[in-house]
Amino acid sequence: MRAVLLAHPAGHSLSPVLQNAAFEAAGLDVTYEAWDVPPERLAATVAALRDDRSVLGANVTVPHKRTVMATLDGLDPDARAIGAVNVLRRTEAGLVGGNSDGAGFLRSLAEAGLDPAGRSVLLVGAGGAARAVGWSLAARGVASLSVANRTFETAEDLVAAWRQSFPKLRPRAVPTDELGEAVAVSDVVVNATSVGMERGGVDPDESPLPASAWAGGPDRWAVDLVYRPRVPRFLRDADAAGLRTIGGLGMLLHQGAVAFEAWTGRPAPVAEMRAALHAALAGDPPDALRDRPSERDRP
Ligand code: NAP
Repeated sequence: MRAVLLAHPAGHSLSPVLQNAAFEAAGLDVTYEAWDVPPERLAATVAALRDDRSVLGANVTVPHKRTVMATLDGLDPDARAIGAVNVLRRTEAGLVGGNSDGAGFLRSLAEAGLDPAGRSVLLVGAGGAARAVGWSLAARGVASLSVANRTFETAEDLVAAWRQSFPKLRPRAVPTDELGEAVAVSDVVVNATSVGMERGGVDPDESPLPASAWAGGPDRWAVDLVYRPRVPRFLRDADAAGLRTIGGLGMLLHQGAVAFEAWTGRPAPVAEMRAALHAALAGDPPDALRDRPSERDRP
């Protein structure tokens, strides 16, 4: 059997490392392959997957997470609400699209000891990852949810959609001149922008927030979706100000675990998947916060 990733380009993904380790650890004869699928080939590729019973399931990533929805036979309710699909699974009704990013994000928080229910959250960024993360935070029962984004209108569009799904929460878009205050009143600040991500193997030493925006306090958290570098500038600044920190590797791991479970109906071999990810990233710079309490406290 095979499982596949539909991406364009497909070269940089860690999903083959993650999923091949999972299938091997589970003793399943499944090989995970990354396929480079340009947008004009997406519909034909999904049609071929539907007919090919040797394919157990698939992941979908940039740039296909939204456009793939129109090619499927059904959508999970959360994927429909989020407006993006990253997992395809085979059912009697055909190929059904799900979204494991939000669930993977929440699992990564839980693993680090953070339950966002009842907390005030500031989400920085309003792209594809922010859609899944924000929706999952709202569904988990945060006390408040604010979104700041370089392009303010995109944040407004996002919260307008969430207001319909979560009318009591009243999520809001934060104008740039109110960003400092929004950071100060939030228990949890999440970087869901691509700022800070490694370029050409180099840490750009950039954050979407100025270092001066951070102020410590008991039980305050900074969460970054970026996982290369392991500790981006956003987390370094937050750590220096006394916040607890969570990097993006846990979300990457757990979205893969949720996908594995959707395809196989078995619990994912998380320890082996984590080890494979760490081995693949072993050449990256050391994790400067490895010994911080938020990492040590992991249950
Ligand atoms: P995306 O859809 O392209 O969205 C990018 C976001 O970053 C937008 O909000 C964009 O703002 C903002 N942005 C980009 N450059 C900026 C800059 N110079 N200054 C301020 N804001 C900027 O990307 P995505 O798919 O949401 O991914 C976002 C990040 O999450 C990436 O680093 C990705 O690797 C990471 N991610 C991690 C995981 C994981 O498992 N850990 C999963 C998914 C994504 P505008 O709207 O103004 O353009």
